[in-house]
Amino acid sequence: MTARFRLLPAILALFLIGASARAAEVYHHYFGNTHSHSCYSDGKTETPADHFRKAKAAGYDFYAVTDHALAKYPQFTAQTYELTKREADRFTDSKFVGITGFEFSENDGPGGKGHLTVLNSVGYLDATGPNVNLPIFYDWLVTNQPTTVAASFNHAGKDTYNGYDYLTPARRDGVTMFEVINSGKLHYEGFLAALNKGWRVAPIAAEDGHGTWRLINDSYRTGVLATSLTRQNVMQAIRARRVYCTWDKNLQLTFTANGSIMGSVLRNPSKLSFRVDVRDPDSSDPKDRITKIEILGDNGKLVASRTCSGHSVSWTLTRAPECKYYFAVVYTADKTDAPTAYSAPVWVE
Ligand SMILES: [Zn+2]
Ligand SMILES: [Zn+2]
Repeated sequence: MTARFRLLPAILALFLIGASARAAEVYHHYFGNTHSHSCYSDGKTETPADHFRKAKAAGYDFYAVTDHALAKYPQFTAQTYELTKREADRFTDSKFVGITGFEFSENDGPGGKGHLTVLNSVGYLDATGPNVNLPIFYDWLVTNQPTTVAASFNHAGKDTYNGYDYLTPARRDGVTMFEVINSGKLHYEGFLAALNKGWRVAPIAAEDGHGTWRLINDSYRTGVLATSLTRQNVMQAIRARRVYCTWDKNLQLTFTANGSIMGSVLRNPSKLSFRVDVRDPDSSDPKDRITKIEILGDNGKLVASRTCSGHSVSWTLTRAPECKYYFAVVYTADKTDAPTAYSAPVWVE
């Protein structure tokens, strides 16, 4: 055997190790809040530092301060936006990630109404500024952003944002989240409307607290799947839609199709092998028992359902592709009227 051929198995082995390392990417579940207001807009007297300090003490893995970027709040300026970033950095460590963002709000022009939260942007856009409208905003979001940014549709109904108009393939990658839960209210109809229009959005639970009352008292959370707890990893997870929402503060939900994690797009699959993993760490609490899992498809139609009982449940099943998107919902013993958790979809094209 020549030296060249002796090397081949080693190269092949290295290649295989690389491939299996990628396949075995381990995600951890992190829980947080994407939307809050401080004294720099209409969040009463509490500062971004007050928000980050209390969120960290309350056990949040990540937390975003997202003031209204509006000229009508004179205390919201480029300088106070920088101050918020500095506080986010100051509280960020291996146990907590602070994020700065802003809310694009009060855009009441003829091009459509609707608030959106932007996370982790270097700059911001005032919706009431001259010539600013939704299409301008969507383009701004995906153009020349030096950091990993992502936006959410906020507290929206089925006709908001001019009926979820102005979608292009490029703009679709800027808005990756939808507030299915905002301030303790459900916005499920709006979520389906955005998905039906072709937006690829993952469900989130946002407190939208004006001050810190909600961060202490409300228990719904946005869950993200990231390889470790850094701001960049959390933002990449959000950008990739590895995201779910839950009324329970620590219920862990993972949904895959053909081995691809939620948020993925599958092209021309001949069949779909779904897997749902749900775990609630409060295994001695009967209220947190998982009672039912459903897989839903286009416009929320029921694709498959199974009842269960336990605090850790896995479910696999295979179906022929028939919908443009699929997501999983989970019911728990304490809440029978509606699901406790909603996964990000997997899309099929
Ligand atoms: Zn709003
Ligand atoms: Zn808000």
